[in-house]
Parts: sequence; structure tokens; C-alpha cells
Amino acid sequence: MLALVKTAPGKGNIELREVPKPKPGPGQVLVEIKYAGICGSDLHIQEGDIQLNLRPPVVMGHEFSGLVAELGEGVTKYQIGQPVVSETAFYTCGSCIACNTGNDNVCEHKALIGFVYPGVFTEYVLLWEKRMHPIPENVSLLSAVMSEPVASSVRGVYEQIHITPADVVVVAGPGGMGLICVQLAKAAGAYVLVSGVPDDGRRMEMALTLGADRTVDVVHEDLKGILYGLTNNEGADVYIECSGAPASARTGLEVTRRRGQYLQLGLAGAPFEIDFAKIAYKEIAVYGTLGQKWTAWERTMKLLASGQVVTEPLITDILPLTEWEKAFAKFRAKDGIKVVMTPVKG
Ligand SMILES: [Zn+2]
Ligand SMILES: [Zn+2]
Repeated sequence: MLALVKTAPGKGNIELREVPKPKPGPGQVLVEIKYAGICGSDLHIQEGDIQLNLRPPVVMGHEFSGLVAELGEGVTKYQIGQPVVSETAFYTCGSCIACNTGNDNVCEHKALIGFVYPGVFTEYVLLWEKRMHPIPENVSLLSAVMSEPVASSVRGVYEQIHITPADVVVVAGPGGMGLICVQLAKAAGAYVLVSGVPDDGRRMEMALTLGADRTVDVVHEDLKGILYGLTNNEGADVYIECSGAPASARTGLEVTRRRGQYLQLGLAGAPFEIDFAKIAYKEIAVYGTLGQKWTAWERTMKLLASGQVVTEPLITDILPLTEWEKAFAKFRAKDGIKVVMTPVKG
């Protein structure tokens, strides 16, 4: 089957190759990919600056939706043809402090599909039954392709920080994750302000369509002044950093109120300088978040089923896998919000 493979570490080294179709072992399920989404982390793999465990040569891609194609021995929860998604982790050690406390999303030895194990930019992927989740009946396969970024956002916004209806929440960076966080913060009842830069244009409009109360272009408008106006000069209750841009992280510590919450969802490619003392002076609660736990996936499927989170409006482009270069370039140029690929028969 035709697959997009990261062939070696470093910049580039990505090509379409024929790879063998896998066979499910005990507890495993073979899933036929219907849609596969390009993630910011795929661009970092292309750039060669990804900070997660990567083991080339490996089939790339981890965001997908598909249909059950073949069941391994002992699999009872799924039927052939059933629409499914899966967690990204393929292996966690089961014995470290993270695993033992139910937080295997931060297992030191965690290995993901699309990074260490074969991913979804191809026709079929091998998955573990215990890490899969059924797609609810009223949720389309196309909507479900974004389950993974929704689950990551749910992990951060609902499991790491706490939002109340009295809060003013800044979502910094209206990319795919940002536009999901907007919906999560709105569902929690908060006032939601989305900050971005001038070339976010189309994404800023989408933020308003999805319920954001206001957008702020940080280049031409005074974010801090606007927030002070909204909060009696206190600052944002919650700052959700989704862009991974150093300037946005610095702004976040600047505009978050004393004893406010700061959540880092975006991934910066490289270390950067930040005024760490602000965290002490203002007693800001700073949270990181990485990947998703089973609980976040279950919540995600419920939020998609209830319509409290919608993803189809975020999917701007669907291209065949053979046009992966164009698809990656479109996503990198912020030409689309979520760019999705469909498998091509080899
Ligand atoms: Zn992703
Ligand atoms: Zn572990």
C-alpha cells in the first residue's frame, strides 16, 4: 500500500513509498483509513525539529478516522465496517509514575503512531482495541478526523485548567486547536477573546462564527488595553496559548491576571526566552498539556455527538495523499485551517 514515509531524521526526507499491509495480532484491529489530517507536529517532522520520540523510517500521520477492516484474536468490542478513531499512543510502559497514576499521556517511554509506529498517511493502520473509540452514530467520518486535536484540547482545557462562566478567556492563535478551544471555553460559559496576527484573517472570522465574543489583531490593536477594559484592569482570567509562538507566550504572562491560569497547548520548535519572574510575582498557575488520556477521548466523542464542538467548518481542504507536498504547503502557509488527505490505492 502507498504510504507517506519519513525516511531518515533531519529536514525533509519524506517520500511516498510502497509498504506492506499489516496483519492484526491479538488485541489489535486493522483499520481502513478514510480521512487523515495534517497536524502542526507533522510540519515539525518535515522541518526536522520535532521534540517528540521519532523513529524513521516510519509512516507519518496520527489524526484520522476510518472503518474497522480486520479483527485480531480476542477482539470483542468492534465489528467489521464500524467507524472508529484511536488514541495516538501505541505503546506506553505501564510501570513509570505517569502510567501508574493514570497519566500515560506523559509516559516517558510513550511511542506514537506516525512517529515511532506506522501512522495513518496510508491505506491501513494497525491499532490496539483498548485505545480505540467508536465514532457516535450522528458524527460523520469527516468530523471525526479531528478527534485527536479535540481530545488534546479537551485534555488541556477541561482536565488541566478550570474555566467558569465568569471568566474572560484569551485563546491565542486561531489555528485548528485554537478554534476548538474557543468552542470548549464557550461551552464552559466564559467570555472568549481570540488573539491573532494579520495573516490569520480567515481564521479570525471563523473564530467569531464558532462563538468567540471578540477577536484582537495583536499587531494593530492593544490586547492588554482591551483586556483591562473588559476586566476592571485585572487582566485575563485564563490565557490559552495555542500558537507555540514565543511572542504569544510572553504576551500571555503579561496579560494574565494575578492568580490567573496560563495553559500551554502550542508547541514551539525551539527553546525561547521568557520573563519567568512574572509567574512568581503574579502567582500565575502555569499548566502544560501533552496528548490525550482515555478520559479526554471519551469526553471528545460526547462533545462531537452533542454538537457542542463542531469540526467540519474547520476542514478547508481535502487532497489525495499523492498531493501531500501541496497539502503540507497549504497548511504551512496558513492557507487552510485543517488540511485533510485521503488514501490512494498503490
Ligand atoms: Zn495532532
Ligand atoms: Zn510509562
